[in-house]
Amino acid sequence: MIHGGAGTLFKGRLDPKREALAREGLQTALLAGQQALQDSALDAVEQAVRALEDCPAFNAGRGAVYSHEGEQHMDAAMMYGKDRSAGAIAGVQRIKNPISLARKVLHHSPHVFLIGQGAEQFAREHHCVFAEDTYFHSDYRWQQLLAIRGQQTTALDHGIGLGTVGAVALDGQGQLAAATSTGGMTNKRYGRVGDSPLIGCGTYADSRCAVSATGHGEYFIRSAFAYDIAARLRYADMPLQEACEAALATIAELGGGGGVIAIDAKGNVAMPFNTGRMYRGAVTCDGSPEIDIY
Ligand code: ASP
Repeated sequence: MIHGGAGTLFKGRLDPKREALAREGLQTALLAGQQALQDSALDAVEQAVRALEDCPAFNAGRGAVYSHEGEQHMDAAMMYGKDRSAGAIAGVQRIKNPISLARKVLHHSPHVFLIGQGAEQFAREHHCVFAEDTYFHSDYRWQQLLAIRGQQTTALDHGIGLGTVGAVALDGQGQLAAATSTGGMTNKRYGRVGDSPLIGCGTYADSRCAVSATGHGEYFIRSAFAYDIAARLRYADMPLQEACEAALATIAELGGGGGVIAIDAKGNVAMPFNTGRMYRGAVTCDGSPEIDIY
């Protein structure tokens, strides 16, 4: 399962061209994930998220939003349910596929979470691909920054709600994995990092479920959102859908908006959201991709 972000404000329909681009990006990502699922859940979530990072429509990798300083700082995380190994990075620049850097942290670092220049140094030492600023630049994202740069505010909805990306998967060996990647919020300042790369907040996987969230990160951090879902399964034996809805209700109580994709060890899936829409899709190992937005 994948998501391409949940907008918070805008409830109307998308411009048809944007919608077509988003649908195409989701389709490509589902097919990439489906192919990799034959290898493992970790490969599936990495390949699906890489495809979404390469698509300029989404707020991750190539399409990352701009910070107040006019830079693109990206965050990503990946977690493997089998042994709860995890890798996360935040505030990195010019990394073509931040999710692959997160995976390298998962496999090749004794640490879980690397940030900024240190994470970039790790990326160089582990042969991650860097790209020029021009690869990431788009007038579209730049105009979004200019529209709110003078205000003391950050924007999540980005006008059209194309956002953060994520994937969760269950493979043939019964293993679960989760991955999330984002540029964060437009006009973010002071090294702001949201929930996406924080294990237990925007991303989590254990032997029972895998979770990737999207929405106003501060609320997801304050409610330890992804772990809240896993804990409801672990301690209360709640069904997945109910657990996701209950966790999302907490976000709403706090005043936040967003959504989540989750899958459990039996293959049950849930993708609730409390916003106008959430870009999302799912595919089985031999089925056709299903995509929905509204
Ligand atoms: N959760 C992300 C953040 O707060 C944003 C999003 O999901 O669109 O950085």
